[in-house]
Amino acid sequence: MTDQHAGLSGEPGDLTPQLIETSTWTDQQVAAAGIPMVDVPIVSVGGGLGSLALVDYLRIAGVPVHDIAVLSPNKRPSETYEFLANNSQIPRHERLRSDSGSVMDNIWGFPSYALREAWNEKGLKNKLFPVWQVTTEPILAEYYTPKSGQVYESVDRETARIGWTQMLKAGQVRMVRRRSGGGFLTILTPPPGTTQTRRVAYRSRFVHLSLGYPGVRFLDDLRSYRERSGDHRRVVNSYEPHPHVYEELARRPCTVLVRGSGIVASRVLQRLLDDNEAGRTQTTVVHLFRNYVSGPQGDSVTFRRPGTGGFAYQAFNYPKAAWGGQFRNQLLELEGDARSDFIDTTGGTNTAPRKDWRDQLGRAAAIGTYQQRVGQVSSVEPTDDGFRVRTEVQDNAGASFSIDADFIIDATGLEASIRSNRVLADLVDVTGAHTNPKGRLETLPTFEVVGTRSEPGRLYASGSSTLGSTYAPVDSFLGLQYSAQQIAFDLGAIGAVPKLGPLRSFKEWTRWMKNRPPS
Ligand SMILES: Cc1cc2nc3c(=O)[nH]c(=O)nc-3n(C[C@H](O)[C@H](O)[C@H](O)COP(=O)(O)OP(=O)(O)OC[C@H]3O[C@@H](n4cnc5c(N)ncnc54)[C@H](O)[C@@H]3O)c2cc1C
Repeated sequence: MTDQHAGLSGEPGDLTPQLIETSTWTDQQVAAAGIPMVDVPIVSVGGGLGSLALVDYLRIAGVPVHDIAVLSPNKRPSETYEFLANNSQIPRHERLRSDSGSVMDNIWGFPSYALREAWNEKGLKNKLFPVWQVTTEPILAEYYTPKSGQVYESVDRETARIGWTQMLKAGQVRMVRRRSGGGFLTILTPPPGTTQTRRVAYRSRFVHLSLGYPGVRFLDDLRSYRERSGDHRRVVNSYEPHPHVYEELARRPCTVLVRGSGIVASRVLQRLLDDNEAGRTQTTVVHLFRNYVSGPQGDSVTFRRPGTGGFAYQAFNYPKAAWGGQFRNQLLELEGDARSDFIDTTGGTNTAPRKDWRDQLGRAAAIGTYQQRVGQVSSVEPTDDGFRVRTEVQDNAGASFSIDADFIIDATGLEASIRSNRVLADLVDVTGAHTNPKGRLETLPTFEVVGTRSEPGRLYASGSSTLGSTYAPVDSFLGLQYSAQQIAFDLGAIGAVPKLGPLRSFKEWTRWMKNRPPS
């Protein structure tokens, strides 16, 4: 490698200012920069559950491993998911939110998680319980939901079955650019020392992006507090590691302020109150609501969800009809703000109506260890002695009060702005990807990203970066599988991949049952 191939970093085979400034690259430009090119028809960037959903479908449809490259820093598709779930207090033995049929490792949805749990459990009662629950939900029982550990284990089994490691190319993707002559060039930065050049370009006809969330998002006042004070110990986000909080609570009685009223807030509250009830802690939990839900939401009997005690209740993050029923069809007809409003109305902040959670909150409220407050935060500052954090709040009547807490847990969300992801920001700024009313990627019903066509190539996206386009539950197991199926249909329609017909599908299902690789 000669010096003429050194790029921005001075290392061989790096991006050059010319490449960065050019939206459509020729092979010669890339070669001149000394970046080696790897040819593969289909690239999936991310390597998380969204990549798994697409790659699994394509492999089952008959696409060979050497036609697919998965570009990711992670070895396992559930790695990022498990990290976030663990932090938000969903360890392997706790149950997730999605249903029995949202089976991440199995495109047929059968056998479902409930059946598999019944099969693997010991003892008649334990075997019958999941089956009884899934057959009587939601009338006699609450919806069955799988334990997170079951999802991880079955995802690992499926990745081994479909040859994931052979398709996986380790590294972080820096950008995807159109290729002159068609298709795309995806620039991967492999781990240092693993390749001779700083970057490797994947030259492909198709690209799929499922990049998850770029990071954690703090409420403005909490972000500002952390920036000003440098205190990342007492003010934490529920999605970032925060075991020190629970360790400290086990050492002495403390007050914890929880903000947020979605599913993750419910999990954090449960963890705090479980520890109290088990006698491990003596924590006072103060729950601060900005918008207090005191009654049902929705103004028609057929379009309403229950709400009480501060929480809006819905079994799943969207009504079931959003995945494949009338809400899905309705959304396909809508455009612009009407589409965005419909997504907010059917989704928005809500939590699962689990009886054990509600009972536990009731018990803790009765003895004063769980307290609810409502209002707008005006400031967050250290207390005078510097040991706690004081939140000044104004209630709806204009009166002020303050809450002194040893810890504040922000359970309001993850960063979802596509501007925070370099690859997606570049796609919008340079490649011309359109954004939707929610500021995320505008996708067609086929999940192709509008504005990125590079004939004969196509670029697709799935997951949270596409919320606001034509499908609402994009960030869910079933939503990722739905997106994967639409992408595979589109690829099948232009003859780029085999179509998965009923006979092959049945044959492949039997292979799945026997844990044999796709044929
Ligand atoms: C805590 C939590 C619980 C959830 N529970 C449920 C549930 O119970 N049921 C349900 O249906 N859904 C659930 N979801 C929603 C959804 O299923 C997950 O968010 C899912 O992981 C989304 O898959 P993804 O591929 O889009 O993102 P991820 O699985 O996060 O994967 C994205 C990957 O992209 C990688 N990446 C990012 N940038 C780059 C880059 N530049 N180059 C290469 N790789 C990159 C990341 O490292 C990451 O591994 C939950 C989400 C969270 C956060």
